[in-house]
Amino acid sequence: MNNERNTSKVAIIGTGFVGSSYAFSLLNQGIANEMVLIDINKEKAEGEARDLNHGLPFSSPMKIWAGSYEDCKDADLVVITAGANQAPGETRLDLIAKNIKIFKIIVDEIMKSGFNGIFLIATNPVDILSYATWKFSGLPMERVIGSGTILDTARLRYLLGEYFELDSRNVHVYIIGEHGDTELPVWSHGTIGSQPLQSYFKKDNDKIKKDLEDIFVNVRDAAYHIINRKGATYYGIAMGLARLTKAILRNENSILTVSALLEGKYGLDDLYIGVPAIVNRNGIREIVELDLTEEEMKKLHHSANVLKTAIKPYFD
Ligand code: NAD
Repeated sequence: MNNERNTSKVAIIGTGFVGSSYAFSLLNQGIANEMVLIDINKEKAEGEARDLNHGLPFSSPMKIWAGSYEDCKDADLVVITAGANQAPGETRLDLIAKNIKIFKIIVDEIMKSGFNGIFLIATNPVDILSYATWKFSGLPMERVIGSGTILDTARLRYLLGEYFELDSRNVHVYIIGEHGDTELPVWSHGTIGSQPLQSYFKKDNDKIKKDLEDIFVNVRDAAYHIINRKGATYYGIAMGLARLTKAILRNENSILTVSALLEGKYGLDDLYIGVPAIVNRNGIREIVELDLTEEEMKKLHHSANVLKTAIKPYFD
């Protein structure tokens, strides 16, 4: 944190759908004091900065401008949303080759500036690009965070709130694993208003179980459904990134499902994957190790194996 300046500066790399929606969320929620927008398409970054600045009279003071990698030098947080996104029919893992190349260039440029803050990664496949950023940057693991399954968990909470006709903020069930096709819900630890989710199964057990499974499938495939309809997803992730930014800059010690480096937790090591973790001003304070059921653990390990196989050709 840049305590001497007593400000908080966020650099956003990539001002496409996700980057610009995230910038808009930061502005609306008054989360940072300075926001610099960087994109290979300088005109786009410049246009976004101008447009956002025109909202300042309706928000709170913030310095917003289109800049260059040198501006990352004293940033508290660099958020990367640059790169290719999924075309209809493409999986997130299909983006690896393209985006790893882009990340090598971007992360090298950022580190050349003298940056010594926290990275937050959103570009897909997010678990693999978080690992790549950790490797390329040489920063300690707690200072490289992926958005992981923060959005998937939010999607699940929203749909369960609809199903039980309850405020989604009272619903707590995590999605963990790859942010992608092999993710899994942790039903065994779900609660609604402090009551175990399992207690809702007492009546009509089989029907609820089937409905919950359908809800999970909807969550897992949500990006495909949205991309088929509007070409990309961005509002949900933008708000998830803003939530994470608050947890970091305001030292909240919040538990959120992010992509973090595992070194032994859950019996896994040397990979980034979505797990609940305590997030504060230093980045990841601690990974929360849930006591998973045998079946959940098996699914998590399957998800990890898929990620490890995908990353192997790049970091052997
Ligand atoms: P987009 O095409 O609208 O924006 C990408 C931006 O990156 C563009 O402005 C482009 O000019 C810029 N860019 C490309 N190469 C660059 C480089 N070398 N340096 C700097 N900037 C560069 O795409 P989008 O819809 O904003 O999606 C961005 C990424 O976010 C995708 O990988 C997408 O899959 C991912 N995403 C992640 C989540 C999540 O939950 N983590 C959710 C939605 C989207």
